[in-house]
Amino acid sequence: MNKRYYDNALGFGTRAVHVGNDVDAETGAVRRPITMANSYELPYDPTSMNWSSADGNLYTRNGGANQKYLQEKLASLEHGEDCVVLASGVAALSGLFFAMLKSGDHVVFSSVTYIAVYRLLNELFNTKFGVETTIVDTTDIEKVRAAIRPNTRLIHIETPGNPTLAISDIKTLAGLAHKHGALLSVDNTFASPFNQRPTELGADFTVESLTKYINGHGDAMGGAIIGRKEHLDIIRAQSQINLGGVISPFNAWLIMRGSVTLPLRMQRHNENALAVARWLREQPAVSFVAYPGLEDDPGYETAKKQMTKGFGGVLSFGLKADHDTHNRFVSELKIITSAVSLGHDESLIVFLGEDDERQYLYPEKFHNGFFRFSVGLEDKEDIIADLEQALKAVKPA
Ligand SMILES: *Cc1c(COP(=O)(O)O)cnc(C)c1O
Repeated sequence: MNKRYYDNALGFGTRAVHVGNDVDAETGAVRRPITMANSYELPYDPTSMNWSSADGNLYTRNGGANQKYLQEKLASLEHGEDCVVLASGVAALSGLFFAMLKSGDHVVFSSVTYIAVYRLLNELFNTKFGVETTIVDTTDIEKVRAAIRPNTRLIHIETPGNPTLAISDIKTLAGLAHKHGALLSVDNTFASPFNQRPTELGADFTVESLTKYINGHGDAMGGAIIGRKEHLDIIRAQSQINLGGVISPFNAWLIMRGSVTLPLRMQRHNENALAVARWLREQPAVSFVAYPGLEDDPGYETAKKQMTKGFGGVLSFGLKADHDTHNRFVSELKIITSAVSLGHDESLIVFLGEDDERQYLYPEKFHNGFFRFSVGLEDKEDIIADLEQALKAVKPA
């Protein structure tokens, strides 16, 4: 534990640099090393040890050095009491659901979420484990209120939601959940803790895909759950140690390094995405732009309250054009890469088509096919010029 910097009164940037790092006791190196070992030396008489314990150094699936450094930093950046880091964002989501839900429980979750949330809650947990689920447009508090049942254990939201950028009100939903004895979990991946900290707004759990902004360089996968120790101890015991989706020391180290520049990168993502959203909106060939930083976006007022530093780097937009023109547009791009994922240094675009099985859950404007665009760290003038030349090349309506 790095006590010197373990102080939440320090600024976000200072903590992004220092928390979780320390001078290596053995060599004096100013960076902590990657500890690749999978086990640790036992005490003189190990026979009374609990082999499933997360306390102390035993076996890397029970907790590794690099994982712990990263957990310390993320708990600090999210202003949470405790953190568990796992192998991917989906390992964090499934680990949270597995540990916190049991058969007979009811879950309310956002109609706009990462696809694995929909598969887990709407296809697997209900049929395999008897967990009841209701899909709700969580941008509408009254719909959430109406969906709550006596056995509602968890409300899970994603804000901004992937891929429509729908905004749900964290503070109001936390109040509603707690009034009914339920817990609120928030997937904060699109915002990152620089822009939004759900735990400060009353959420019981914050989930992050570290693969995205927190690592930020498109070269490692990880996921995190931040919350109170009483819950995280259960998640650690059940979902880390016994389900086993542990993060590798190397990925934990890469994400630790990437996270140092999170505040700088997020400032640039925020600035670039807002500029691109404003530019796109002026283009006659563009059918719509969804970005919570646009004043006329349906999520703007709520986003402004809870995303205190900016609106993130992801937006969605469509063209007044047919299916193939959307594909041709992407093939004309020279700087922006066609790939899934988001929050990388480079700009990434994905055409999501018009026959997604969840399309009926999205607002009408998304039904004719659209792009999810993760605006990168390039110069915004170059990003806009790339979009402009591709639009010219395909000449949509
Ligand atoms: C990518 C993503 C996830 C899943 O994270 P992985 O690291 O790919 O497993 C979860 N939620 C959101 C909002 C995401 O964008």
